[in-house]
Amino acid sequence: MSRLQNRLDRSLTALTGLLPGSRANEPETTSRVDSTHTARVIAARCSCCHRSKTTIETTYWDGTLDHLRSAADEGCIRCSFLAKCIVSFASDIFQKQNSFRAWANFSTCELKVHRNGKPDNFVLDIFALHEQNNTPFNNIPIKRLLPGDTSSDMTSITIANWIQDCKSNHTDCNSIIPDFHDTSYSPKRLLDLTNARIVLRENVPGRPVYACLSHCWGRSNDLTKTTLENIDEFKTLIPWKDLTKTFRDAVEICRRAEINFLWIDSLCIIQGCKDDWDEQAPQMASIYRSAFVTIAATNSKETIEGCYRTAGADYLAKCVPGTDVYVRRQPSKFPTHWASISSEEWPLLNRGWIYQEMRLSRRVLHFCSQEVIWECQNARRSESGCSDKPLGSKDTQTYKTTMYGAVPYSKLAEDPRKLWYRTVQDYSRLQLTFEKDKMPALAALTRDMETLRADDRFLAGLWEKTLLLDLLWMVWPSPKTGRLATWRAPTWSWACVQSQVMWGSSVDHVLESVKVDDIRYVTTGPACMGEIQEASISLHVPLLRAKFDSARFESARLCWDPITPFLYDLVIQDEKMDYDFSLPGPCNILSPTEVFIAPIGINKLNCHHTGIVLRKQDRSIYERVGYAEIQHREVVDMFDKGLRGGRGMTWSFSVEGNEKLDLVTTFFMSIPVCSVTII
Ligand SMILES: [Zn+2]
Ligand SMILES: [Zn+2]
Repeated sequence: MSRLQNRLDRSLTALTGLLPGSRANEPETTSRVDSTHTARVIAARCSCCHRSKTTIETTYWDGTLDHLRSAADEGCIRCSFLAKCIVSFASDIFQKQNSFRAWANFSTCELKVHRNGKPDNFVLDIFALHEQNNTPFNNIPIKRLLPGDTSSDMTSITIANWIQDCKSNHTDCNSIIPDFHDTSYSPKRLLDLTNARIVLRENVPGRPVYACLSHCWGRSNDLTKTTLENIDEFKTLIPWKDLTKTFRDAVEICRRAEINFLWIDSLCIIQGCKDDWDEQAPQMASIYRSAFVTIAATNSKETIEGCYRTAGADYLAKCVPGTDVYVRRQPSKFPTHWASISSEEWPLLNRGWIYQEMRLSRRVLHFCSQEVIWECQNARRSESGCSDKPLGSKDTQTYKTTMYGAVPYSKLAEDPRKLWYRTVQDYSRLQLTFEKDKMPALAALTRDMETLRADDRFLAGLWEKTLLLDLLWMVWPSPKTGRLATWRAPTWSWACVQSQVMWGSSVDHVLESVKVDDIRYVTTGPACMGEIQEASISLHVPLLRAKFDSARFESARLCWDPITPFLYDLVIQDEKMDYDFSLPGPCNILSPTEVFIAPIGINKLNCHHTGIVLRKQDRSIYERVGYAEIQHREVVDMFDKGLRGGRGMTWSFSVEGNEKLDLVTTFFMSIPVCSVTII
């Protein structure tokens, strides 16, 4: 008998003793069934995972925990192993209504259970600590045990190892800051942690190694702030008792990592002093980029909550008897992109101001709810191993040209237009306490973009050189807000809505007949801060008369105006309005309203024309109210047939589709262009 079989037998014996209602002593099912070949085959197959009970091949399977227990009793090695893992995690959840779903190689096992009278859905993390461990199945992932307290010495040692590894082995991280002791920039003020007394220092000589803190302010009254009144006092001593919990934890984290200087916004920028703000705010990019590391209080909503957390008992792994396998509740996985961030688990990552801090930081230590997670240019590392991932330019697996969301920023930098779309898409969904911060909270990244697009001009969140394509932003998902009470930006800018916006990924061409005629754009102060005095654009575009009817309940509330019959062949395939028009306020639309669709962009991949929806204000003055996609009726039919034929989105429209696209383009080109000014 093989060594593996021996191991499994041992596991099974241990398991059957653990399971309630075990039928280990009963004769095996196979010996009780009749002797026909078919019956033997059926009996040899597990009724739960539908595989041969004695092979180690694994697959996806699901069922109730009660069913799993029966399959384990009947001698299926997969079901036995999983049941044993679940018993080790919590023996009291084997009930009929409690269910599981397990993937091949036990890569993921989801449990839907009732515990202590409450529903509880979670992933059971099944792992080993080393490759050569005693595991009944191959490919059990290798992960690490959690210390369970992010203030522990074990966590500090892990952090020190990550720092050492990054310094020694990551060329990408060190090429930006050439040497640990050689940064090119130093902030005007830093907290000096060298001695027991914490002091605020100005113009520290040399190039000090410092950390930045990224945190939610929460209620401003709780925050320790430098003001014109206390700055002199802070230069001799910042009393420990005056520091909030998050600040104290950050000081301790620095000291443990042997970093002597710390930059905290509310202490290193004089609060309530406009001159100091105007001087320091534009330096934000340099401050975060030149920091050796950024400490992020990722699980804290307020400055009084601190950085450190203790993990619940479920997250501390238990060993599965007779094996070297461990089980635990899977720690929260670090969000893979900015579109899917839970505000409960990652409150910091939902704040607008934090977005650029994270983008600009070279290295980030996220203090999360169960563990610390490290991010640098090369890698993401987690104490548990659950959120480990290669990052940066070497991360080719997630590189898809058609989905901005999945493309690493470093790849996107090759195309500044798409990098900007991704930036706005990620940023626009985040929350701001003050709506007036929409542009300032992104200003550091805007300045970076100004460097990348040296001969271009920033226009209220769009760029002059790509203005026509930039105008084709859409609100997605559906807007839940009306227009802002206070004017912030022109209607053609995404900065005037409070919703997440995005751009269609393959709209790369512009209708030849569309031209920018005039741009009037004036700001007070630097363009990136977005304090707009005047903002209007004049375009030459074809205009198609349409109607917006909020009372229509079909999928589209936008339809052609019947007095324009030549539009029969064209379908408004998609519409995305900029606001919720049913809300009371300045953009409320009760009855059918006349609007115009101005086709601008061409998507050659899916044969769409994309345009903006305009509402006339006065003579040639229009406001933007939405976005629309137009397609030839026959292309829509072709696409539907393709979908029904199972060819899905990848189906190529190559010949017929492009013929229709050309037909529509020719039609649009034949419409006399109008001169419109959008404000
Ligand atoms: Zn089975
Ligand atoms: Zn690194």
